[in-house]
Amino acid sequence: MNYLVTAGPTREFLDPVRYISNRSSGKMGYALAAAARKAGHAVTLITGPVALTPPEGVKVVPVVTALDMLTAVRAHLPKSEVVIMAAAVADFRPKFVSKTKLKKRTLRPVLTLVPNPDILQTIKPLKGKRLFVGFAAETDHLITEAKRKLEAKGLDLIVANDVTRADSGFDVDTNAVTLVAKGGNPRNLPVLTKTALAEGLVAMISHPRSTWADFRF
Ligand code: C5P
Repeated sequence: MNYLVTAGPTREFLDPVRYISNRSSGKMGYALAAAARKAGHAVTLITGPVALTPPEGVKVVPVVTALDMLTAVRAHLPKSEVVIMAAAVADFRPKFVSKTKLKKRTLRPVLTLVPNPDILQTIKPLKGKRLFVGFAAETDHLITEAKRKLEAKGLDLIVANDVTRADSGFDVDTNAVTLVAKGGNPRNLPVLTKTALAEGLVAMISHPRSTWADFRF
């Protein structure tokens, strides 16, 4: 199958040297791309700026901003059968982007932001028979938020993690997640390495949906 995986943060510039971003390391997305490739799939990895070496055999599309990522996802969507959005897309970008470095004396202490498009919501009408998997990094109301995002973004599966835990989320090699599949009950998985979780997820989604609840990680 053809996999489209997004990974890493996006950067939203206010001038050539300053940007707003987030703590995403890209590890989960890169682990998913590697797992899908290992399982024999064709993989396109659309990645924000990260300090990782891409897995071998994967087509890498580097992007910087959320708007770049949206353009790249749109371009690669038609030939994709599985879309996994593991990227931590910045929700806002500065309204004004200066071509030259802003001088400290002219900078105001208030930044005007505009919302970035939600990539999954934008491509939702083009979903067709594709499988859409999202991620939800939360600090509270994990399941409620995951279910809301599953619905709003038209997903088949959302992988929710509590980023307040030391063994889960940003920049660590393990993840403790809850899977919420469309029409299914939330399922807590044990703490797994991101590699084991990625290989498990790739294997699970290759099986019929009716078997997902019993899939062994
Ligand atoms: O940021 P949020 O918690 O809403 O992210 C949930 C899912 O939506 C993730 O899979 C993320 O990659 C995706 N997302 C997106 N476009 C955005 C923000 C998030 O596709 N602008």
